[in-house]
Amino acid sequence: MASKYLKVQCKCGSEQTVFSHTTSVVKCNQCKEPLAHQSGGTAVIDGKIVEELG
Ligand SMILES: [Zn+2]
Repeated sequence: MASKYLKVQCKCGSEQTVFSHTTSVVKCNQCKEPLAHQSGGTAVIDGKIVEELG
């Protein structure tokens, strides 16, 4: 799976761009809920993926 950027929507409605191979927890800028975390070299997206940005 190639690395790419994902536009992820938090349950609060805020959208944020997340790298698909993030090495740390990505939190929502608005409500600080986790949007993605790293697992086995790839990111597990906790929010809703609304768009893949290549
Ligand atoms: Zn949020």
